[in-house]
Amino acid sequence: MLLHLAAFAAAAPSVASAQDGVSKATTHPSCFAASGDTRTSSQMASFSTRWTCEGGGWDASAPVSWIRFEKIDWQGETPPALFFTRISRFDEIELTAIDADGTTRSKTYSENQGRPIAAGPIFTLPLPAITDETRSVVARIAGPHSAPMVTEARLTTSTARTDWTVMQLLFLAMILGMLVTPLLFDINFYFVLRERFVVLHAYMALSMVLYVLFAGGLLPLFIPVSVSAMAIGASLSWAVGVAAAAFFFSAFVERGTLPPLVDRALRASGWWTLLVIGFASLQFDWSQSFDNTLYFISFVPVIAIYLAAIVVALVNGSRAARYVAAAWIPLILAASERLLRGLGVYAAPPSLDQLLFAALALEVVIVALGIASKYVAIRQDRDSARAEARMLENLSERDPLTGLLNRRALDDRFAALHRSGYETVALFDLDHFKQVNDTHGHEVGDKVLKVVGDVLNAEPDSVAVRLGGEEFLVLLSGTNAEIRVETLRQTIAVRVAREVDALNSILTASVGLIHVPLAGNPVADFGHIYRRADALLYEAKAGGRNLLASDTMHAQPPGSTVTAFAAQSAA
Ligand code: GH3
Ligand code: MG
Ligand code: MG
Repeated sequence: MLLHLAAFAAAAPSVASAQDGVSKATTHPSCFAASGDTRTSSQMASFSTRWTCEGGGWDASAPVSWIRFEKIDWQGETPPALFFTRISRFDEIELTAIDADGTTRSKTYSENQGRPIAAGPIFTLPLPAITDETRSVVARIAGPHSAPMVTEARLTTSTARTDWTVMQLLFLAMILGMLVTPLLFDINFYFVLRERFVVLHAYMALSMVLYVLFAGGLLPLFIPVSVSAMAIGASLSWAVGVAAAAFFFSAFVERGTLPPLVDRALRASGWWTLLVIGFASLQFDWSQSFDNTLYFISFVPVIAIYLAAIVVALVNGSRAARYVAAAWIPLILAASERLLRGLGVYAAPPSLDQLLFAALALEVVIVALGIASKYVAIRQDRDSARAEARMLENLSERDPLTGLLNRRALDDRFAALHRSGYETVALFDLDHFKQVNDTHGHEVGDKVLKVVGDVLNAEPDSVAVRLGGEEFLVLLSGTNAEIRVETLRQTIAVRVAREVDALNSILTASVGLIHVPLAGNPVADFGHIYRRADALLYEAKAGGRNLLASDTMHAQPPGSTVTAFAAQSAA
């Protein structure tokens, strides 16, 4: 962008110095006429009655449009040397200088001889020699494809003396910058969101960048380009951008805020814009009599449907539609002004185009803000979905009877827990539990298991797991782990006796406990540790049950010890 501005600034001084003289050096048309294609310039020059000189009189759909420039007296001023007008497709332009004595000099140009210049969407053609005797210039435009091409025609002394100022071009360059930024923004968003509306917004922004380059007349600053390419490029990029807007809005509004019928109408108008208006943009020779009218008239239902869709979505509480409304209403107003001008309802200075460009930049920026806000909303949704998934995952990791973690959850977490300081592993097994089931029934057995789960789960700085059946595992971090486990083991007997009335004998538990210090065992293998704990549990069972057997896992495992803390309390 900066580079482009620099290139422009280098070309600027001659334009800037010409500003004071614009009105003096630029000749506006005095009269207009329209005719069939057989009428010649000399015939037309002699028909004073066929011209309209009090406003109006142009008709871009006629085979030939006529423009007459009058300046009875060129004396004392530099005579004009160039004809210029707004870019549109045409067949042929004949420029005729008519002297006071009736002498005429003509030059005829085809479309590809027109030279687009970087001063608005205009092109120039050299005039035939204008002398002190010249009284008027007649332009015969065969097959013009737009009304502004007729109404905005001018004569000028040099290319510098054209209608667009440095400020206007700088303004366009700024708008171009504003359009490019959301485009980059979209590309970044797409990598995160992968939402269709981001791509559609990028299409819109890209079309609008092209539109400003073509319709703003900036392109000839960078590359040589023909009148037909400029003419088609401008109208086609606008049509593609407007079509993308329909699909964008349909994808962007919150689901359910556009009734299916409105949504279908919106997307249909997108296709209509792409196909019908896109076709009119191509400005074929054979469509000259109607393509300009078709182009502009076709926007009328499109604007109506877009507006209706916005209103419906707003009424249905769409947040996205609020951004789009703020973005599109200025744009629709500016586009409507351009539409009326394009249809030739009235003529106005082409500098009014700036309104449309400004509205465009505003549109893209506001919609980009809307996308940013939707981006945040979608991220929040995804995060809460993720939290929900985590909850579901929790359900699959929990034992339904006791609510403790299950074996699978332990497998996933053991290594990480051990690394973070859970260095003690206690394996609990209820003593003669089968008898509880056999004597009191399975339901009482379940009740006992629940109480055991509650006891083990209440221990702080520990993770309790039901491995299966009546076998539990507790992982502990912190100090005095063995004493805490022994307390848990005794609490089981007390709590079960208190909470399960049906039991008529004390239910005890045996524990195999193994310390696995991180220092000696940086990489803990659960299978290995479990086998050690199970062996200790077997020792406790073999020692008479209601016991805790413990050991420490060293690099060189020494013998184990059987502790009989429980002997006193259980007795
Ligand atoms: P030991 O002191 O040697 O451990 O004897 P035990 O009877 O506790 O050992 P055993 O492994 O023979 O019996 C375990 C019983 O646990 C067998 C089974 O009926 C019972 N059991 C396993 N899962 C459940 C359960 O979910 N609910 C109930 N109520 N009982 C279960
Ligand atoms: Mg048992
Ligand atoms: Mg068992």
